[in-house]
Amino acid sequence: MLNDKDRIYQNLYGLQDWKLAAAKSRGDWDGITELLARGRDAIIEEVKTSGMRGRGGAGFPTGMKWSFMPKQSDGRPSYLVVNADESEPGTCKDRDIIRNEPHKLIEGCLIAGFAMGANTGYIYIRGEYYNEAVRLNAAIAEAYEAGLLGKNAAGSGFDFDLYVHRGAGAYICGEESALLESLEGKKGMPRMKPPFPAAMGVYGCPTTVNNVETIAGVPTILRRGAPWFAALGRPKNSGTKIFCISGHVNNPCNVEEELGIPLKDLIEKHAGGVRGGWDNLQAVIPGGASMPILNKEMCDTILMDFDSLKDVRSGLGSGAVIVMDKSADVIKAIWRLSKFFKHESCGQCTPCREGTGWMMRMMARIVDGQAQLSDIDLLETVTRQVEGHTICAFGDAAAWPIQGLLRAFRPLVEQRVIEAQQRNALAQAAE
Ligand code: SF4
Repeated sequence: MLNDKDRIYQNLYGLQDWKLAAAKSRGDWDGITELLARGRDAIIEEVKTSGMRGRGGAGFPTGMKWSFMPKQSDGRPSYLVVNADESEPGTCKDRDIIRNEPHKLIEGCLIAGFAMGANTGYIYIRGEYYNEAVRLNAAIAEAYEAGLLGKNAAGSGFDFDLYVHRGAGAYICGEESALLESLEGKKGMPRMKPPFPAAMGVYGCPTTVNNVETIAGVPTILRRGAPWFAALGRPKNSGTKIFCISGHVNNPCNVEEELGIPLKDLIEKHAGGVRGGWDNLQAVIPGGASMPILNKEMCDTILMDFDSLKDVRSGLGSGAVIVMDKSADVIKAIWRLSKFFKHESCGQCTPCREGTGWMMRMMARIVDGQAQLSDIDLLETVTRQVEGHTICAFGDAAAWPIQGLLRAFRPLVEQRVIEAQQRNALAQAAE
């Protein structure tokens, strides 16, 4: 288990004050001027060496992403955009960072902005996080007051302004290019890539979009050193991660742990175990709604990191662990997710707009007992026609839960269809 001294988030549960003085007493903003004096290249190199991978879902190396930003401006300003949209069902980690450790995020924004030559940062926060936006604005005001933001931020000679922008509740605005469209005041619809945001992001200028947890972790990495961070977790999956454990556990919680912790330990040591004991476990969605579901056999041994989960054709995603015991109807649960994705499709590409509806209706046929056995293969084919054929990763996100269900629970799905056919045949014979 992670030692308390190695926790980045010392106030994740809000047991202490969130304000600047208390944040400073926990080490935030400590030596920030000297830290920035190391220079842009040294900071990016340190983040690269730490092995930090983006905590929003894709797991792209953070330092490398920063290094894509232009070293010399061609006349256009550069921007930092922080993705605080946090809409993936089951995920609620950025919310706790913002309400209990906002200064970690603000300090991280200054450092990241400095490292990529961005004098302006935007934090795009989902509209439903009203109280969090209020608190974040209050913390930013404190930082301005203390000279940590604005002109000559923290005495570094670098000017940095930070703004909070509230979204309006669309899931797709968590996709970085849709987020940028929304930030510009347009409909939140994903853009074709390339060009990538580092070349042409918000307002047509070089932009880096990072998740809240990624940015908030950077000040501690720089203070404690890349080797400290790299020593936590597993090779290529270094550091700590906040996991959000929900569903059929005795003690649902957010907890910071090392990447690579066994899923079983995570659930048993931090979430009070599965309701009714480990043997009562049926399934786990390991990384938010779009990540393929795991059956009990997979859960027995799986490690919680990017590469281990990829090896079983699932993913760490946002680190939201949704636990289902044997009382859950996993088929109905995945149908409910397909309904969610159908609702949230932005509709600009046909495979996603039409395919999400098809997938939802075919899942509904299985749930309602109206499906044929051949429909299972047909459903699988539809998911393949959506996956990889769309403008953004939403198409994959909508297809994967169903593919995961068919991989991990195919016998159960077949049994459900056969039993329903038998029931229907008996009912017809009785008429
Ligand atoms: Fe919109 Fe779906 Fe296409 Fe993404 S994949 S751009 S959400 S229609």
